[in-house]
This record gives sequence, C-alpha cells and structure tokens, in this order.
Amino acid sequence: MLMPDTLGQLLWRLVCIYTPFLLVGWFFNHIFLALFLASVSHISWFYYQQRKLLNWLYVDKRLTPPQGSGSWQPVFYGIYQLVKRRLNRERELAHLMKSFRLGAESLPDAIVVFSAHDEIVWCNRLASEFLGFKWPIDSGQHVSNLIRHPVFVHYIQQRQFDNGIEIVSPNRTDLTLECRVMPYGTQFLMIVRDVTQQRKLEKMRKHFISNVSHELRTPLTVLRGYLEMLDDELPDPAIWIRAHQMMSEQAIRMDNLVNQLLVLARIEAAPVISAQEEIDVPKLMDILEHEVRQLASNKELTFCFKVDECLWMRGSIEQMRSAFTNLVHNAVKYCNQPGHIEVSWQCDSQCGRFAVTDSGPGILPKHLLRLTERFYRVDKDRSRDTGGAGLGLSIVKHALQHHRSELSIDSEFGKGSCFSFIIPDDLMLHKDHE
Ligand code: ADP
Repeated sequence: MLMPDTLGQLLWRLVCIYTPFLLVGWFFNHIFLALFLASVSHISWFYYQQRKLLNWLYVDKRLTPPQGSGSWQPVFYGIYQLVKRRLNRERELAHLMKSFRLGAESLPDAIVVFSAHDEIVWCNRLASEFLGFKWPIDSGQHVSNLIRHPVFVHYIQQRQFDNGIEIVSPNRTDLTLECRVMPYGTQFLMIVRDVTQQRKLEKMRKHFISNVSHELRTPLTVLRGYLEMLDDELPDPAIWIRAHQMMSEQAIRMDNLVNQLLVLARIEAAPVISAQEEIDVPKLMDILEHEVRQLASNKELTFCFKVDECLWMRGSIEQMRSAFTNLVHNAVKYCNQPGHIEVSWQCDSQCGRFAVTDSGPGILPKHLLRLTERFYRVDKDRSRDTGGAGLGLSIVKHALQHHRSELSIDSEFGKGSCFSFIIPDDLMLHKDHE
C-alpha cells in the first residue's frame, strides 16, 4: 500500500531536484538563475500533476487513477481508495434497497411509507391495486388526499395508531381493507390487508348459526308445547293421537335437518374427488326411480326415466347420489298435481348430461341466482310443509363443484323447471351393456 511521504523523504526529494540545478549554477556562476529555473520546473511539474488529478476527477471519471509520480502518487492512490470505498458502499446500499423492495413486493399486503408530514415516500405494487396509488407519480402526495375516507382521514390526523381501522377500498368498492399504521423513526409504515374474504366468512358463519337456530327452534317449540301439556294430565286419546303425530313430524324434521347439515359439512370438507371410484349411474337411477315412484304413489304424478345404460362415471358415489336424489326429490316435492317429471341421463358430446324436468310451478327469475345458497327457499311456508330447510340445492352445488360441474336452472314461472348439469368427459366411463 502507498503511504504519503515522511518529512525526511520530502526533504530528500527537494535535495534531489535542486542540487543538480545548484551545481550547474555554481559552475557557471549563475546560482540565482539556476535556483529560479529549478523553482519554475518544480512548480510546472507540480501543476502538471494537479492538472492530471483534476482531469481524472472532473473529465475522465474513470475509476482507475492516472499514473502519478513522486509525492503525488500516494495522493492519487488515496483518492482512488476513497472513491472505491464509496462506490462499494453505494453498491451495498443499492443491493439492500433492492432486496427490501423485492421483499416488500412479495408480501400479500399493500405497504405504504409516509413521512411525518403524511407525504408518501414509497409504496409497493399492491398499494396500486388496493388503494389506487400510482407509483412514482404519487410520490410526495398526502396520503389523506388519495384516501379521502372520513374514517381514514380522522385516523391519520389523530395519530392514535394502537388499533387498525377498516375501510372500503377507494379503488375497488368490492374490497374491505384493514389499515394499520406503525411509526418508525420519523416516518410511518402503513400495512393494508385485504380482509374481504374473512369478513364474508364471518358474516356467513353468523347467518348460518342464526339460520340453524331458527330452523331448530320451530320444531323444538312444538315439542315443548306438547310436553308441557302432558305435564298436567294425560289428554284425551283424540288429542293425544294428534299430539303424537305432530311430535313425530317435528322430530323427523329435526332429524332431516341435522342429517342434511352433516351431509353438507362432509361434502364441503371433502377434498376434490380422486376420481378412482367408478359409479354405476344407471343402477343408481334404477334405485332412485323405484324410490320416487313409491314416494309419489299417492300423488297424481307420472314419471319418465331416460337412462343411457352404458354411461358410468368416476367420482364420489356418496356425493353424486346426494346430487341426483336431491334434484329428483325436489321435483316430486314441488311439482303440481297432476304433473309430469322427466329424468334423463344421457351422453352429450362425450360428456354426461343429467336433467330433471318437471311441470311444476316454476321459479321467478329473481330467485334463480340465490337458490343454491344455504337455507334459501322461494316459499318458506311451502318448503316447511314439505319438510325442506333450503339445504338440498346447496348440497348439490358443492357435490357438483367437486366433480368440476355446475348446476344449471332453467325455469318458467307457472310452467315448470329444468335442473341439469354436465359431467366433464374425462370423468365419464362407457361400459358395455350386458
Ligand atoms: P328445500 O329443502 O327447501 O327443498 P332446496 O335447496 O332443495 O331446499 O331448494 C331451495 C328452494 O328452491 C326450495 O325451497 C324451492 O322453493 C325451490 N325449488 C327447488 N326445486 C324446485 C322445483 N323443482 N320446482 C320449483 N321450485 C323448486
């Protein structure tokens, strides 16, 4: 490593420069002229080295310094070392910034850094999606100018950041956002999380619990009423027969509800089907036909089952049985008398198409999109008479989702309905019919 000259070395350099001039001057008896010439040469060399340094610093700007000579060599080297150290530090800093930004970009939340004056210093990509910020255009903008929600403006002004707040996204009204601000140094870090799904699930859970409680309360009230009546004394045989019949009906209703809830929970929790199980759909249809004919024996209903006897499928037998049964049973439950129900299971461009068409009351278009929601019923009283809790079509929807299929409902009010679905071709099996 080059070191600056010591005083001794400096003096020795001067001796080396001036002595030859002095000797020549002494020889020609012009010692002052020689001294003058020596000083001019020394100063010129000095300026030449300085020029080289300035040229390197301001014009050339290369990292490697020019070749310095004499006492200038350590100066050039020293500056070179300083520049190199600064460049390395800058490079390290740039690398650190890059990794920080990459890390912040990969977070599932929007990140906004703002100053003590609420001016945006930095934000990540998700901030543009959640909050509509445009980076780098919005750099230096006031956060509360871009998010004008009164709750947010108040939150920022109050500087009470112990708890977060929830706002609707200023960019997308379908998003519910949770904002939390954390002070650090003189700046603030705001983390914005999308809690839409979470809030939806909480709402659904609350709805679900209140629906189940409501559905159970009605039969329980009936049962309790009759049981209280029995507390006093045994009623007349005629009343007792009626009470017994009502209690049995309500107990069956509760049992059905609990069973449907269990089926729904099991189907919802089931992973996507493995497609290993082979389902003999024609046999299922045969059993179903016998069942519904018996169920509707006292009704004026006619049936027509059109089943492709070679068409099997892969999937979960329990889930598909629930789907087929619910749709056919609904047709029987809701069809007006006299009426006609047609069930078909046919091959349609290598896929399997199942359809139940009835000549029932039909459904108004405003209900169609909501029919598969849990506990949704078009006519609550009528469904209650038939023992329905509004879970059947929800079970069908989930069972079909697991088989990459979707329920389609076509209905004309006053004329009838057709509930159908298509099973994708890769789940279909074509068997030879014996
Ligand atoms: P439920 O147990 O009440 O039958 P579902 O989920 O099976 O519940 O059906 C939801 C609602 O859809 C029913 O309450 C009924 O109003 C309507 N619905 C279902 N199938 C039919 C049909 N074939 N014809 C007319 N309405 C139907």
